[in-house]
Amino acid sequence: MPSRFESVTIPAPDRGWRPAMLILLVSVWLALAGNLPLWRTVWPLPELAGARGVAFAVGLFVWIVAALHMLLSLIAWKGLLRPVLLLLIITAAANSYFMLQYGVVIDATMMANVANTDVREVRDLLSWTMLLVVLLLVVVPGWWLMRQRLTFRPLWPQAWRNLAGAALGLTVLLLVTLLMFQDLASLMRNHKQVRYLVNPLNTLYASGKLAGDAFFHVSKTRQPIGLDAHLGAGPAAAGRVPLVVLVVGETARAANFSLGGYARPTNPQLERLAASGVGQLTYYSAVRSCGTNTQTSLPCMFSHLDKDAYESSRQPYENLLDVLQRAGLAVLWIDNQSGCKGLCDRVAHADTYNLKLPELCNDGECYDEVMLKDLDQRIAALDPARRARGVVLVLHQMGSHGPAYFRRSPPAFKAFMPECTSNVLQECPREQLVNAYDNTILYADHVLASTVQWLSSKPQADAYDSAMLYLSDHGESLGENNLYLHGLPYALAPDTQTHVPMISWLSDAMRDRLGLRSDCLKTRAADKLSHDNLFHAMLGLLDVKTDLYRKDLDWFAACR
Ligand SMILES: [Zn+2]
Repeated sequence: MPSRFESVTIPAPDRGWRPAMLILLVSVWLALAGNLPLWRTVWPLPELAGARGVAFAVGLFVWIVAALHMLLSLIAWKGLLRPVLLLLIITAAANSYFMLQYGVVIDATMMANVANTDVREVRDLLSWTMLLVVLLLVVVPGWWLMRQRLTFRPLWPQAWRNLAGAALGLTVLLLVTLLMFQDLASLMRNHKQVRYLVNPLNTLYASGKLAGDAFFHVSKTRQPIGLDAHLGAGPAAAGRVPLVVLVVGETARAANFSLGGYARPTNPQLERLAASGVGQLTYYSAVRSCGTNTQTSLPCMFSHLDKDAYESSRQPYENLLDVLQRAGLAVLWIDNQSGCKGLCDRVAHADTYNLKLPELCNDGECYDEVMLKDLDQRIAALDPARRARGVVLVLHQMGSHGPAYFRRSPPAFKAFMPECTSNVLQECPREQLVNAYDNTILYADHVLASTVQWLSSKPQADAYDSAMLYLSDHGESLGENNLYLHGLPYALAPDTQTHVPMISWLSDAMRDRLGLRSDCLKTRAADKLSHDNLFHAMLGLLDVKTDLYRKDLDWFAACR
């Protein structure tokens, strides 16, 4: 009796191709010819150097074939399979061509562009090269595909084969993922654009996301919040107005702050400041982030909703900054990172990209101190009527953004040496990685201390009752349990990715203004807090009255 699998794996020419075999062949073709830009991009990368690199490249290839095989097995039906394969060959060829020719990557935005392209634009894109590509990558394989005879089984046997094919693809996919998880994760993090090069999975994903977004966000309009927001009587009566600087940290983890008990002296300046008696500095030792990456944490931090409500909400809302502005305050966001994720769209904002300051900026990136540069002028340029009621500055740091930690600290702050200078973190000895990271924290310490110094010097100290609040967006893994960077699903994320540092500094005038008891703040520093508290603490600090305010989440309020 012949083996049951023999007829599947060995095509009998007289009966034509079994779908599983044809799917495998087309998957291999798509992984190779349909992915020329991917292979061209990853080949020179350091991740692909040496024997380990070759193994990784083979793994990546098997990974793509397995993913395609899994998906295509599910649609191996008579009358459906052949047109879909043909369509994939065409889209893969088109993708390859556009990516090679124009360097564009296929993501949801690009798909939206394609969907909106008019005939004139298409004509502009036609060329002889394109004809050649079409001939080689579409006509030849397409013609071959159309000529092949396909033999399907009856309904149920075919259904079982399809499921088995998908299961096999999934198994291989999972196996390869498990074997290469670290390398894959490192590649995708260090070279984000790579994921958009995996053809045609990128097109399928982008189309799906586009359709999904269109379906779920039928109403894209941002819901206004805090329409009742207004300032309390305090500011006008006192004659002086508040100036609050909110510093949004990046990838700073609590575990490496000496203020929180870390053995290395990573916070010397802030520790000196705390001991000096200039205002009151508090380090909060038990603060949790909302997410494990910037995209999740940042909007959640500024949201009036708590973590659970924020995550289950499909409706986009305005944020803290809108409420502060609505109450009449002057709000300014200064960005030294990849942007404010839409948070600062309706308030004054500035970024540091176009600054030409050789002592602080190089290679299109600036050290975080750049945000303190000319701050007086920036404030002076804000609406005077608002400024007269109070000023809120948000400084969005580059902080400890990985994997190139060594780029985030200037030479003068490289106290922990030698440091890792590779983007491929696994290649560095762990001590060097931690050194590079600790240098970024040492520099952040300096930036925060300088911010306080600026607040407590003239003319700021004369005009304002000032405060600084520092809170990091999420933590980081530095090789513990072979994990690097951040972004693990929250439930699986280690403590180091979600336990974040938070620091407040209040000038004596601000503490008096709020009627805060300083011994109370000290005892509260170990309270369990999270990103959920930020919205309410900021409203409390700035005396903004609204129904959204929850006194139980404003930890300052408990000390009045
Ligand atoms: Zn981040």
